[in-house]
Amino acid sequence: MAELLIEIGFEEMPAPWLSGLGEQFQARFVEAASREFLEAKDVSVAWTPRRLVLRADLPSRQADREEPVWGPALKVAKDGAGAWTPAAQGFARKNGVAVTELLHSAFRASESSLDAALFLSGCAELLDAFCSEGEAEDKVYRLALAVVRAAEAGANPELLGRYLEAWLLRLHGLYPPLDRCAGCGALLSSSLLRYHQPAHGFVCDTCLPASGPVLSLPARALLGQFFSNPPDTLVGAAATPARELEAFHRTLIGAHLERELRAPRVIREVTREGAR
Ligand SMILES: [Zn+2]
Repeated sequence: MAELLIEIGFEEMPAPWLSGLGEQFQARFVEAASREFLEAKDVSVAWTPRRLVLRADLPSRQADREEPVWGPALKVAKDGAGAWTPAAQGFARKNGVAVTELLHSAFRASESSLDAALFLSGCAELLDAFCSEGEAEDKVYRLALAVVRAAEAGANPELLGRYLEAWLLRLHGLYPPLDRCAGCGALLSSSLLRYHQPAHGFVCDTCLPASGPVLSLPARALLGQFFSNPPDTLVGAAATPARELEAFHRTLIGAHLERELRAPRVIREVTREGAR
């Protein structure tokens, strides 16, 4: 804390004005300090007909805070071959971060809608959680870029979220094969996918029971679509299969990261609020 004293001299002022002036001075000062992220304490004013004095205790510096800094557009930040351009490197250097951390700037919350903003923040958190391990970075970057472009082109954010999760898990070797039993290796028939946690995969009829969850045929079809199509094909409304996959992915991601991501929880809470 530092003590601040302000003294203002003026021509003689009519006595009845002085208390009002003092009150205004104090109120304006507190407002101005808080605009500058400084909390004024023990503020007092005093006056004579020619003088107005204010004293206050102020923190000697502002508290640290985070502010987003937007860098170059993605198409400028990466060249045709997918390498970081000097523009991106310069921006990263100027801001004291590694160029790979610029992934976040690809996901700045769009101004368009709450859904899109929530989706993008969820993506950023997911990528952050997976990228901190330093594996598969180039593939992850290209995946992220494709998803962002699809979002810009109007693909469905909820489907894109599931798509991103599915591919992130797959690129990290965490998505169980859809066609082989994790218990005995037999070909899985084209029926429901029954997940068995101890086997880290889907199991066939012979290897039942499974711990769950069980993915429906439409959910399995949606996964097939994810793994064989680019994300900009994900148009149209998301439906029950996407919710099934959300719960399933949460299980896989949670088991891998040994924690639950914050953004998806916030999204669920906001969605529930909105549904009320
Ligand atoms: Zn089996």
